[in-house]
This record gives sequence, structure tokens and C-alpha cells, in this order.
Amino acid sequence: MVTTSISGTAAAAGAEPAHPLEKAARGIRAGRPRPHRAPETAVSGARLLLSGLGIDLEGESLRRTPERMAAALAELLTPRPFELTTFPNDGGYDELIVARGIPMRSLCEHHMLPFVGTAHIGYLPGERILGLSKLARVLEHFSHRPQVQERLTTQVAGWLQEQLEPAGVGVVIEAEHLCMTLRGVQAPGTTTITSSLLGTLRDDGRSHAEFLALTYRR
Ligand SMILES: [Zn+2]
Repeated sequence: MVTTSISGTAAAAGAEPAHPLEKAARGIRAGRPRPHRAPETAVSGARLLLSGLGIDLEGESLRRTPERMAAALAELLTPRPFELTTFPNDGGYDELIVARGIPMRSLCEHHMLPFVGTAHIGYLPGERILGLSKLARVLEHFSHRPQVQERLTTQVAGWLQEQLEPAGVGVVIEAEHLCMTLRGVQAPGTTTITSSLLGTLRDDGRSHAEFLALTYRR
């Protein structure tokens, strides 16, 4: 059994002081989310933003809205650490493994509005296989940061490729972007599909077709 820890921005930051959101995430153990408290600077920022937009924060209902708004954003932007556990592929399983219809949500980094949809993630195993729930956890991990759908798709695929070294990886995400459907062009119901195919899922015609058939089947 091989276990790899993934802890997002903290790992990337190395010895540098923890990011405020990482501090906020302390005390949240993998698999057991706790309510978030945002740093005071984020609460003041939310208050300033809302006041600047002409919103009166004096009433009882809105008085604590800046705290709640900052805490909600902190929760959406803080990846939960988790451990990726892989197992030897003792049975020599060499067919596609696909998790279909995984719910996804993230924040578009251009507007800080949600994009919400489903993902299909699959791989063709090499020497090792992965706990099935971990496919969803990898997606969740990379979703909890300011994102664009294209990058989220390639990050999930690239990370699985690197950690699992499978024969191939495929990720398809279909999502509705609220910045597009609630404002701007206001095209409700429009979804955006992105895909990232690596290894044999990209290069081998049969695997490629099989993956797409499995993921696009309704
Ligand atoms: Zn946007």
C-alpha cells in the first residue's frame, strides 16, 4: 500500500508561513468538515464590498452577513487535505475504471461565482489501482480554489497521471457557470464541457471511444 498526502497550497508553500485560508482550515481533519471562520481582513473586506455596493448592513438580518459571506468563501476556497491510497493491481485488471456523474462545484476565478455540474473520471490501470472514492476526492480537492473549468479538468487528469502512473486517464466535466447564466449574456441552461485525455485514452482509438461512450451515455 502506498499513501501520498495532498494538502494543496500548504504543500506548495513549503516552509513559508501558512496562507490565511490554510490557517482557517486548521482543525479540519480529513473527512470531518468543521464550520469555517474567515480571517478578520476578509470579514472587513466583505463589509467594505457590500457597503460599497450600497447595501445597508445595519439591520438585524444583515449585521453579520460580512462574517457569513467571508466564512462561506473561505470554506469554498480551502481544500481539505486527504490521503491518496493506492493498492497493487494484483489481479492484473486491464479494463477501464470510470466513476460517472460525480457532483462538482467550484468558484470561477474571474467573477467569484459558482460553477456547478458533474464530472466523469476514469483510468486504465497500470501497476496500481485506487480506492474508488478517491476519484471524487481528487476532484473536490482541486475544486476548492479559484478555478477555471479548463484548468480544473487538466489538473485532475495530470495529478492522477503523476500519482497513479496508469496506462491512461480521462476526465470530462460538464458545468453551468452562474457568471454566464445569471448575468452577462444570461443564457440559462447552457453548460460547458471540457475534457482531458492522457495516455492510451488519448492515443488508442478503442480505449478513447470506449471512455467517451461510457461518459456520454445518459
Ligand atoms: Zn466567471
